[in-house]
Amino acid sequence: MRLTEQQNRDIEAARAQQSQTARPTVPALEALLFQPLRVLDHGFVRVIDYMGDDGAIVQAARVSYGRGTRRVSEDAGLIRYLMRHHHSTPFEMCEIKYHVKLPIFVARQWIRHRTANVNEYSARYSILDREFYIPSPEHLAAQSSVNRQGRGDVLDGDEAALVLDLLRSDAARCYDHYAEMLNENAAGAALDPSRQGLARELARMNLTLNTYTQWYWKIDLHNLFHFLSLRADAHAQYEIRAYAEAMLATVDAWVPLACQAFRDYRLGALTLSGPMLAVVRRMLAGEAVGQPDSGLNRREWGELMAALGR
Ligand SMILES: Cc1cc2nc3c(=O)[nH]c(=O)nc-3n(C[C@H](O)[C@H](O)[C@H](O)COP(=O)(O)OP(=O)(O)OC[C@H]3O[C@@H](n4cnc5c(N)ncnc54)[C@H](O)[C@@H]3O)c2cc1C
Repeated sequence: MRLTEQQNRDIEAARAQQSQTARPTVPALEALLFQPLRVLDHGFVRVIDYMGDDGAIVQAARVSYGRGTRRVSEDAGLIRYLMRHHHSTPFEMCEIKYHVKLPIFVARQWIRHRTANVNEYSARYSILDREFYIPSPEHLAAQSSVNRQGRGDVLDGDEAALVLDLLRSDAARCYDHYAEMLNENAAGAALDPSRQGLARELARMNLTLNTYTQWYWKIDLHNLFHFLSLRADAHAQYEIRAYAEAMLATVDAWVPLACQAFRDYRLGALTLSGPMLAVVRRMLAGEAVGQPDSGLNRREWGELMAALGR
């Protein structure tokens, strides 16, 4: 991740500004405000703004006139109760706004989450940076043989080198042709004064999906937890998971009680179907249950045994 001097100055200036407010603020999140948290090779997530804290969840749940807070242990207990019982609207009282820089193929997965407000960098209006995501060698894996949506073993030396070379050279070639079609350098000057240059909205179609884009993304805490439960999960692709994990760190700083409840009751939890629960009950009663007489298909059985560590 490389920021220009101007971008660094903008971040420092934003951090230097102080506003007085009667609204609750969270010192741990204030300390992170505006700072880019590095993700992948050129990406980042940074918190731009937020509203609410753990107290706002409690305040809404109690519909109280003041801050609604009692002892931390009582607030934690209430927040954990709300999370455990999917009483979700109090979590919607908190909002957060991020600035994210991410490869286009990650953005395409991310944009499926419809409950956020998004404003993306316009490649009709501006020229995209010459930055492409190139995975680090430990993330260059073969297609999984057991999961059509997953990765298998890491590619070995020669094959990894070949793939990295293809990724780099294809992205660079496409970008060079993008710049040639635009007939414009990064400063906006014509490369060849005798040509008009193709419109930015058309030239961009030549870019590879690992080119970085950027957006501002605002969401409430309930929907952010839903996003994180899907994208910080082991089933999510590594690249979007890397963003989800960076965001989870900001949520830890922002609403520690709610985030701990989320980790306990969503992220680290498992939903058992009725037949699965019946199997667990039979096992606890000392019965030797096998897949054929469990009422579960082989896949469900495998998932349950993996979750039980058997
Ligand atoms: C591991 C993984 C693999 C995936 N694979 C594929 C794939 O192969 N192909 C593919 O196309 N997608 C795939 N997806 C995307 C997935 O199907 C969802 O589109 C995505 O995760 C967003 O989930 P969501 O709709 O619950 O989230 P959001 O859009 O954030 O919505 C949150 C919740 O709001 C409600 N909601 C929002 N909008 C509506 C609406 N219009 N109608 C009703 N309820 C609504 C729903 O309850 C929803 O759960 C995959 C996702 C994951 C995590």
